[in-house]
Amino acid sequence: MSRGYPAPCGPATDGGTPEDDWRAWLAARRWPELVPDPGWRTALVCAAHPDDDVLAVGSLMRCLGDAGVALRLLAATDGEGSHPGSSVLDPPELARRRVAEVAAALAVLGVAPAATVRLRLPDSGLAAVEEELTTAVVGAAEGADVVLAPWDGDAHPDHEALGRAAAAAAAAVGAPLLAFPVWTWHWAAPADRRVPWDRARVVRVPPPLRAARRAAVACFATQVRPLGPAPEDAVVLPPEVLAHFDRDVEVVFA
Ligand SMILES: [Zn+2]
Repeated sequence: MSRGYPAPCGPATDGGTPEDDWRAWLAARRWPELVPDPGWRTALVCAAHPDDDVLAVGSLMRCLGDAGVALRLLAATDGEGSHPGSSVLDPPELARRRVAEVAAALAVLGVAPAATVRLRLPDSGLAAVEEELTTAVVGAAEGADVVLAPWDGDAHPDHEALGRAAAAAAAAVGAPLLAFPVWTWHWAAPADRRVPWDRARVVRVPPPLRAARRAAVACFATQVRPLGPAPEDAVVLPPEVLAHFDRDVEVVFA
């Protein structure tokens, strides 16, 4: 994720939609479970920032890996833009730490990527380099049997730009796209008509994996705690946001 993008349509409350609201609504849904195709050999997993994939589809990544699918990770940015104006960490140091954090998180989660493609494009600036981004994602998707990426309606400019690039890449290589919402859980509300719930597929997260994902998310030290007392150093992923990523299901749009 990355701070600084208030939801265009306004969250339900200052803290966004409470997870309790989502939990009750999600429990009553009868969406199909995502069934990985046994023919999948390679998955391309795209993240705009060094935490999107672990937050939204950490369990799915682990399950695919356990099933023998090679995971090729694409990191569009190194996440240097999460704390603009910080006097504690400058952008290069922030990037260095965030890259290390996501590597630690993946290890804790039990995900061993077969390859990582790091584009080092500008955090908070993906839409401005969308052509270059799309070319790179199409190249990385070569030989992939399925593509995972942030949903292109996530109301975060970086997520949406990468979502569009991934959709183009999936179409180019003839692979299905699984789009994952990230920021949506903050700004949308249950049954929100702006969200393609009719395409929703669920991944059940068993308790041990839920615990592993929670431990993985805790590796994002620069995001889950304030860097310091100044407003520029405020926490990016406060508990009410993290609660959306501690469920017993993950949701993707197929
Ligand atoms: Zn993000």
